[in-house]
Amino acid sequence: MPNDKHLFIAPHIDDEIIGCGGLILKLLSLQKKVKVVVVFGNSISKEETLIRRQEAEDISKYLGIEYIILDFEERKTIHFDVMVNELLKVILDFYPDSIYYPHSKESDFDHSLVNDVTNRACFLAENYSRGIKSNVISKRYLYEVWTPLEEFNFHINITNFIGEKKKLIAKYKSQQRNSNLINGTEGLNAYRGMQVGVDFAEVYKLKGY
Ligand SMILES: [Zn+2]
Repeated sequence: MPNDKHLFIAPHIDDEIIGCGGLILKLLSLQKKVKVVVVFGNSISKEETLIRRQEAEDISKYLGIEYIILDFEERKTIHFDVMVNELLKVILDFYPDSIYYPHSKESDFDHSLVNDVTNRACFLAENYSRGIKSNVISKRYLYEVWTPLEEFNFHINITNFIGEKKKLIAKYKSQQRNSNLINGTEGLNAYRGMQVGVDFAEVYKLKGY
């Protein structure tokens, strides 16, 4: 992969690893710069927020990458323009070559909203913002969390990274209480692998191609 700076936009803490953990690990093994931004950094309770932020901090340290956690509250009224502006700041600051965010048909409303917000932020970044011509042109990749993409045009063989990816998901202990995220993710990655002819894969939709 020729590009150097990769920005992963996650609606909630854990979506970046469930959706893109294999790719993140692969990019890091190739010495690429990776950053994660979480949009809904606040959960429904203060206690839950603290636990999830601690888990994100542990993963951030473990991987040696920066996590930017925004203060929007999940499953609440949203302020579209405020969210766009916060994301725009991150994009203008990092100047990523590639941006990864959830596809528009994710059934979780927070996820599909992040798709909208990111589209708008990218549009502004590619044009004018705050009176400054920015021209941040990033390749945009849509990823899948729990609603599989109907079609994809980019895949990555994560067979060598699936073990490590599962370990990362396991670090999000608070999220394993009600569902087996590891099996679910491994199953989807195995299915995608079967489709593209490897053991395990993640698939993406590169926009505009
Ligand atoms: Zn989520």
